Amino acid sequence: MLGQVIELIEKHQRFAVTSHIRPDGDSLGSSLALCWILRGLNKDAEVIMCDHVPHAYSRLPGADEVRVSPDIDREYDAVFVIECSDVTRPGLPSLKDQFVVNIDHHSTTELFGDLNWIDSTAAAVGEMIYNLAKAIGAKITPEIASCVYAALLTDTGSFHFSNTTERTFKIASELVRHGAQPAKLSQAIFYNYPYSKVLLAGAVLSTLQRDESGRIAWITMTKEALEESGASEDDSDGIINYPLTIGDVEAVAFFREMSNSTYRISLRSKNRVNVARVAETFGGGGHANAAGFTIKADYHNLTQEVIAKLKDAVAAAPAVNGREIKPR
Ligand code: 5GP
Ligand code: MN
Repeated sequence: MLGQVIELIEKHQRFAVTSHIRPDGDSLGSSLALCWILRGLNKDAEVIMCDHVPHAYSRLPGADEVRVSPDIDREYDAVFVIECSDVTRPGLPSLKDQFVVNIDHHSTTELFGDLNWIDSTAAAVGEMIYNLAKAIGAKITPEIASCVYAALLTDTGSFHFSNTTERTFKIASELVRHGAQPAKLSQAIFYNYPYSKVLLAGAVLSTLQRDESGRIAWITMTKEALEESGASEDDSDGIINYPLTIGDVEAVAFFREMSNSTYRISLRSKNRVNVARVAETFGGGGHANAAGFTIKADYHNLTQEVIAKLKDAVAAAPAVNGREIKPR
């Protein structure tokens, strides 16, 4: 699959790169890195997204050149679609008329592309893009290294999640050698919040609840809380990590009220609790430890249903000895 992607790049000239709505660190870092690689190979390339670049990623090299557009409005030889479960996720309706290259590390992704390159062993799509850069013989510039590092950093939860392996650190080390600056990137992404984001976190965390076992916790963001804080919807990203810091908690749900009784739900888990399966039953998807979905529903019924399914997921997960960390 990688071979076909390389052949396509070598034979053609005009490319676009896109990713899902509400882009995150992996989707943006990978898209920008791929754009830099293509440009380095003297190709015409641009990143096109239907949503703007969130504040946290605004300092990534090339972020200010991302073209925000409600649809694909030019002809390309191919459009690379990064980290999308299906062809509608980028929110660009005319994408279906283009030659599409689907690049993803989710095993649940649909094979919607004319070419599909899926590697579920990759910690982030950024890792795949880095492999592509090396395989095609691109010069790894500081721009490419920084964007790939941002993708790895965010998709591994700052090297906290179980997708963090020896390979992750090896790649991170190579990226630093090629000019990625870890402290600078971490500061730009995680220590650059607007005041309103922390205010919103306070309001959302005041809704914290847990079940009788103490293993499942949930939080809610109402439209009022969002408006009162003066924060943007992007600013609610990351709040879900706080309940997960509770030692006994193994699964967390974050209910975000959108418009007319539509909710966006994020799910997170620890250890072997699989929340991707839970998200899939509601039409969403993601990874075992981080997943989500959007649904139109009554709040009370929705929370009851999600919590019941999280209880099943926690019960189905093999027990983990939390006291001792055994070396592999
Ligand atoms: P988040 O909670 O940060 O929005 O998303 C966490 C993970 O779940 C990401 O890997 C993301 O791609 C996936 N995810 C979130 N919402 C959806 C959705 O509506 N559909 C699918 N297929 N995946 C989703
Ligand atoms: Mn990813």
